[in-house]
Amino acid sequence: MHLHLEGSIRPGVACALAARHGVALTEDEVRRRYDYNNFTEFIEAFKWVTSFLREPGDFALLGADVCEQLLQQNVVYAEVTLSVGIMLLRKQDPQANFEALLAATEPFEKRGLRLNWVFDAVRQFGPELALEVVEAARRCASPRIVAFGIGGDELQVHTREFTHVYARAKSCGLHLLMHAGEVGGPEKIREAVEILGVERIGHGIAAIHDPALMELLAKRRIPLEVCPTSNLRTGALGVQLRNPEAVLEQHPLPQLVRRGVSVVISTDDPAMFHATLLGEYEVAAKTGLTEAELVALHRAGFEHAFLPQDERCSYLAKLP
Ligand SMILES: [Zn+2]
Repeated sequence: MHLHLEGSIRPGVACALAARHGVALTEDEVRRRYDYNNFTEFIEAFKWVTSFLREPGDFALLGADVCEQLLQQNVVYAEVTLSVGIMLLRKQDPQANFEALLAATEPFEKRGLRLNWVFDAVRQFGPELALEVVEAARRCASPRIVAFGIGGDELQVHTREFTHVYARAKSCGLHLLMHAGEVGGPEKIREAVEILGVERIGHGIAAIHDPALMELLAKRRIPLEVCPTSNLRTGALGVQLRNPEAVLEQHPLPQLVRRGVSVVISTDDPAMFHATLLGEYEVAAKTGLTEAELVALHRAGFEHAFLPQDERCSYLAKLP
């Protein structure tokens, strides 16, 4: 449910993308860049590696590799986030990039993998550029684009500044997402839900600090897309636990689940965080979740997918 295309550039693919633009890179160099201790260092690496995504063919190459990564883990359905905000900043044509991605990824349906897409804006670029992302989604006019979201630096730009952007996205028939409560406080989550009407929260682990908020999320069945390894590698886990030495086993996943909050387990930027979806379930087990709770997490992934009711039910019917 929470997977960034641009965070899924494996070292070999980074080299292939760089080569397309006449830059010689080694996989070791990419691996050295994919090593960070905090959010700022991660963002620097993200900017560097995505600088090789310049034209539709680059997105096609990456899209096909992401499908291979998902199939290797037996994933049957994914909602993939596309940073259209960054495309616009780099003066690219989102529609051309998206069409290349569709052409590269739709053949994987024959192998049992279905994708839908989330068009994502960058919070610190402000509401006007975010509105452009919504307009790009509208122009693409594809039923495969199911949601609009905002990521980036949640400590910048007040949530209410995006009210008209979310209203426009809703009127275009898009579901609504937002990264909130990753490094910010629980108030960021509450604002996203109450001001913008967001339907799923990216990360949201700050909810542990606010029992009334956890109750609200549980009551309204608004899930958190929790990405434990990402939280460790960006330092978000240390921030929320107020302990920079915090380890994965201390991730507050059980606390959220046992308060009745719906959680979907995700990888965020798997190549950049050295994470896999299967690995995240292992991490979830190490935090102390029982087998029954792990199965419930798996079900939640389908229950909260932005799929038509009949398709959701057909996936759910196949689960244990
Ligand atoms: Zn994310």
